[in-house]
Amino acid sequence: MKVAVIGGGFTGLTAAYELTKRGYIVTLFEQEKALGGLARGFKESGWSWYLEYTYHHWFTNDRTVLNLIKELGLINKLITARPVTASLYKGEPYQLDSPMHLFTFPGLSTLDKFRTAALLGFLKFNPFWKPLENITSEQLLTSIGGSASWRMLWEPLLIGKFGDFAPKIQAAWFWARIKKRTSRLMYMKGGFKTLIDALENAIKKQGGKILMNKKLDALPKGFDKILLTVPTSIALKISSGQLADQIESTPHLTAQTLILETDKPIFKDVYWLNITDRSFPFLAAVAHTNFMDTKYYGGHHLTYFGNYLPADHPYLSMTKEHLLKKFMPFIKRLSDNSLPASPAGGFTIHNSFMFVAPFAQPVHELHYSSRAPKLETAITNIYLANMDSIVPWDRGINYAIELGQKAAAVIASKYI
Ligand SMILES: Cc1cc2nc3c(=O)[nH]c(=O)nc-3n(C[C@H](O)[C@H](O)[C@H](O)COP(=O)(O)OP(=O)(O)OC[C@H]3O[C@@H](n4cnc5c(N)ncnc54)[C@H](O)[C@@H]3O)c2cc1C
Repeated sequence: MKVAVIGGGFTGLTAAYELTKRGYIVTLFEQEKALGGLARGFKESGWSWYLEYTYHHWFTNDRTVLNLIKELGLINKLITARPVTASLYKGEPYQLDSPMHLFTFPGLSTLDKFRTAALLGFLKFNPFWKPLENITSEQLLTSIGGSASWRMLWEPLLIGKFGDFAPKIQAAWFWARIKKRTSRLMYMKGGFKTLIDALENAIKKQGGKILMNKKLDALPKGFDKILLTVPTSIALKISSGQLADQIESTPHLTAQTLILETDKPIFKDVYWLNITDRSFPFLAAVAHTNFMDTKYYGGHHLTYFGNYLPADHPYLSMTKEHLLKKFMPFIKRLSDNSLPASPAGGFTIHNSFMFVAPFAQPVHELHYSSRAPKLETAITNIYLANMDSIVPWDRGINYAIELGQKAAAVIASKYI
């Protein structure tokens, strides 16, 4: 029985791995010259590890990732650390990832700190996400956490991430983000490429075929079953619109990262810096080398500046140089005078990289789960599994792997 898997991100790779494990004849088609999809990376000369084009880590409760890593014999490659996550307040980073840090934060009154703690406790311990699809994040966050913490901490991040969609984001999306978060994070020696390579090798060893640089614009012929793991709008094109009636359109945002490779850290100690000041042109600054050692990257420091943008946003038509010019005054503010731990004397940029990923974030509006695409489509033998189908969770490799496993199990069950 022949199965085609379209897309070589974690969903497609896992599905191909599981199907070949069960003895099916699998061909995986990937449009890029490298596997890994949104989690793929690159390596510059002088670096010994790959770096993902977009900032990536795992949470310690990403159990499906952990189990796969164990199964592939890679547990000795796993690194666990507790890097600092902070929010920028009046030009300084404040760690807000523990009750102790929240209670020492100067930006909220004591009452508002208690309300924020109650909000985070509710999100962390409440298992019932379904009712939270009926209300917006703003409704939930202001009713429990109060309007001061909403305005100071959450609203700027929601606007930064979702722009005009921010008022429509369902509370269940926010619940998922907090519920899943752990303060300890995981990464892999060599970068996520280590796991991608292991999956590729296992698929090939089990008899699967992987075709790179193979952009499909129509369903491939000669297969008994086809699994599409590409973004929904691309799946619609590939299937010549045949799935259109079945799939409700969900808006998506494009991810854009600008990565700076510098001689000194742009800011010290903090890994993930949420930018709550919306006059900044980016949403987050993520200092990868405040998480992983610079020795894997030729002694240089690597910092991402990231945004999620609508497809027609002007930043997406800028060159890397133009974007850097736009961001630089703000990056300097993070370095020169604002963050107390920043290095004296500034930094020199050795290299910069820009990356754009369309369809990188589905917009979870109210009642999202009823609109999420289903694995089994209206066309016999055609299946669809992508980040839009992950409910109630936001995207994540843990869920991509779960989805790939589920897709393989369902496809295999149809052969019985
Ligand atoms: C900025 C950012 C940060 C993130 N951070 C994290 C994180 O820290 N931790 C985490 O777990 N997750 C994170 N994620 C989410 C994670 O990357 C995704 O959930 C996961 O990679 C999705 O895998 P996928 O296989 O479903 O989709 P994709 O990775 O999008 O794979 C789809 C594949 O299909 C291919 N394709 C598309 N069209 C065609 C075509 N016509 N023909 C052939 N191939 C085609 C694409 O090239 C791609 O390889 C992040 C995502 C972004 C954008």
